[in-house]
Amino acid sequence: MAEIIDGKAIAARLREEIRQEVLRLGQKKVTPGLAVVLVGDDPASRVYVSMKEKACAEAGIYSDEYKLPADTSEQTLLELIDRLNRDERIDGILVQLPLPDHIDESKILEAISPQKDVDGFHPYNVGRLATGNPLFKPCTPYGVMKMLEAIDCDLTGKEVVVVGRSNIVGKPVALMCLARHATVTLCHSRTRDLAEVVGRADVLIAAVGRPELIRGEWIKEGAVVIDVGVNRVGEKKLVGDVEFAAASKRASAITPVPGGVGPMTITMLLYNTLESARRRAGEA
Ligand code: NDP
Repeated sequence: MAEIIDGKAIAARLREEIRQEVLRLGQKKVTPGLAVVLVGDDPASRVYVSMKEKACAEAGIYSDEYKLPADTSEQTLLELIDRLNRDERIDGILVQLPLPDHIDESKILEAISPQKDVDGFHPYNVGRLATGNPLFKPCTPYGVMKMLEAIDCDLTGKEVVVVGRSNIVGKPVALMCLARHATVTLCHSRTRDLAEVVGRADVLIAAVGRPELIRGEWIKEGAVVIDVGVNRVGEKKLVGDVEFAAASKRASAITPVPGGVGPMTITMLLYNTLESARRRAGEA
């Protein structure tokens, strides 16, 4: 049976390290600050925003929350971002996605100063990641890499298969694995014979959003499986993109859903905010 990679425990350890670092920076009179902007009242976004605030408070990070009505104009939002870009207390700016349809998402993301882009979605930061010199790494893929590190999984020369090519998970995690010297294959909905490609993976990273699309019998014996997918089935049950029960009989290590990658995402947001504050303090 596979080792279960406990995202909650790894995240808790990292958050404690972050808290200690925030305390240390505090002695230099620098408190990391995060601004979280929410437009509209999407219930899932509200939950994420309040989780982020709670996590900031626990880590000693100052957070400022801007809850704007759904009919906020693009111009008003751009003005707020401009203000936050110039606010010295703020090291990171996070605009919760999705935005209402009348607002151009890419225009907003590009208005955030790349130096405060703790989500790592600004094209400048995407470019820096792609050229192997990242300023901020996007949080979910960064969390995946930290989990691999936590189980001492060296990617050098390994076959890594990533399923899903989104800008927020699949593509950046593929780039990060490449930077760690893996041989990377990136799959998507047009990939021919997904089972065969998945079967080559020493490390499989699934970020699809289809409940248990990846069957346990596809997994190579001894592979490491990181399941980013979060899919609701029925009223309450959450499952990943990988058929967990069958996959855990073949894998050497596997993340559960929930309790795997999920807790890492907010942790890496805190980490990026701390990094940004360290730069403000002249440390990095
Ligand atoms: P997207 O919907 O943006 O991307 C899904 C990707 O999966 C696309 O590239 C798509 O291919 C591919 N895909 C869809 N169907 C298939 C298929 N049958 N075979 C192969 N590939 C397929 O999703 P995200 O990247 O935003 O999210 C992926 C999952 O990760 C979701 O479950 C989401 O909830 C979860 N997630 C979890 C986070 C966490 O913190 N734990 C954070 C972010 C996401 P194509 O490009 O061809 O359409």
